[in-house]
Amino acid sequence: MKRRTPNAFRVRVAEGQPVIPDVAAASVPARFRGKPSIDSSRCPDGCVECITACPTGAISANPLTIDLGACVFCPICAAACPEGAITYTNNYKMAATSREGLLLREGCAVTPETASSEIRRLFGRSLKLRSVSAGGCSGCELELNALGNVNFDIGRFGIEFVASPRHADGIVISGTTTRAMAHALKATYEAVPKPKLLILFGTCAISGGIFQRSDQLARDFIEKHKVDLYIPGNPPHPLTFIHGLLEYLRGRAPTRR
Ligand code: SF4
Ligand code: SF4
Repeated sequence: MKRRTPNAFRVRVAEGQPVIPDVAAASVPARFRGKPSIDSSRCPDGCVECITACPTGAISANPLTIDLGACVFCPICAAACPEGAITYTNNYKMAATSREGLLLREGCAVTPETASSEIRRLFGRSLKLRSVSAGGCSGCELELNALGNVNFDIGRFGIEFVASPRHADGIVISGTTTRAMAHALKATYEAVPKPKLLILFGTCAISGGIFQRSDQLARDFIEKHKVDLYIPGNPPHPLTFIHGLLEYLRGRAPTRR
């Protein structure tokens, strides 16, 4: 029997273009729950339905604000709101460079500031990161792994995950930062040569998420260190990470590459 040889060209044509060419203009499925939208003109005086319903205390009033660093995108608030004032869009662009920058108010943009010229010069074209799962459920870690696949292909921007913190320019923390991981987290961060970046990936890393009141968390590392970039989501979309990091490092949304 004649053996059929794979026809790489036909396979390539059949599969189409797997890589997302322009991460600033990429469309994600409509069902993806990304940045919320607030229309506080619909809110009757004194209404606190969404605030009461939120399991993580992410919503505050006057003005109505959703803390994207505490939000787990459930979205119980949207279901609880009798006026339809909170909806969820599929916008994945919501990284920030400060904790305050994650406070979403009606009409406010959530966008990272550009890194210093020194950080841009050092890491703008080549950045090696060490991932630290500090008590995660593997949701965030799966999305971090996806960054290297053919769709997102973060390597084309000069960004790579490395095995040793001594080869890294920064760490990416996922998970709630548990007591059990406190020593490993500190040791890993200290092994990274200066200057170094500290990136928090996901709601659990940013605020503890639904575990924020657990006595098993050790959040002092996060509180003591300057965080360079916050990537919200539960877990975040890989494009939230790529888009936010490139805006931070290059000062503009990345274009086709
Ligand atoms: S989607 Fe976010 S803000 Fe709304 S209830 Fe859930 S955690 Fe709270
Ligand atoms: S539940 Fe709806 S109407 Fe009430 S405060 Fe929240 S967003 Fe406004």
